[in-house]
Amino acid sequence: MTRVSQLFISSLIAGAALLQLSCGDATADNKEQASPDEGSKSEAKANTTAQPTKPVIKSEEEWKKSLTPEQFEILRKHGTERAWGKAYDEWKKQGAGTYYCVGCNAELFSSKEKFDARCGWPAFFDSSKHENIKTLRDTSFGTVRIEVRCNVCDGHLGHVFSGEGFDTPTDQRYCINGKVLKFVPFAEAGKTDSKKKAE
Ligand SMILES: [Zn+2]
Repeated sequence: MTRVSQLFISSLIAGAALLQLSCGDATADNKEQASPDEGSKSEAKANTTAQPTKPVIKSEEEWKKSLTPEQFEILRKHGTERAWGKAYDEWKKQGAGTYYCVGCNAELFSSKEKFDARCGWPAFFDSSKHENIKTLRDTSFGTVRIEVRCNVCDGHLGHVFSGEGFDTPTDQRYCINGKVLKFVPFAEAGKTDSKKKAE
């Protein structure tokens, strides 16, 4: 019995810590700077954690309508955002939460796999949903790199590098464009889920 109540208390403490993280100043700033592509805020909130159930396929014109010009350039045209940009600064400030694809909302990474590789782009040592990630050999620019794409909408996300000597469980560096990631704090995702259950 004692063990059970200890467990209960420690989970309460963990929950409170998560809430504190998600209510921090950094998160509030990010919400204010949220890009106009999200449409109405209530709509975005209702769909924050809804996962696609089949491949998302759109025409170039449809993608242009649903993405910002920068997101379109990265996801659909294999572009790369500027290093040390605003998206990287925001990513560094974000607390515990999940990263979704801006193209199709598929879960890609979480704060549990996040680490600062000091390379100017968001870095993760693994994906939080392997089935939503695919890798391809990329021989552009006269080098051989491994491209990382979203497996649901086929959007370009970045590249993955291995064996660079990072002190992480995989020693892999998923070097990802921050502008194509949508961050949702764990606490906010939980609220959405509980609302759904109540309905
Ligand atoms: Zn996607």
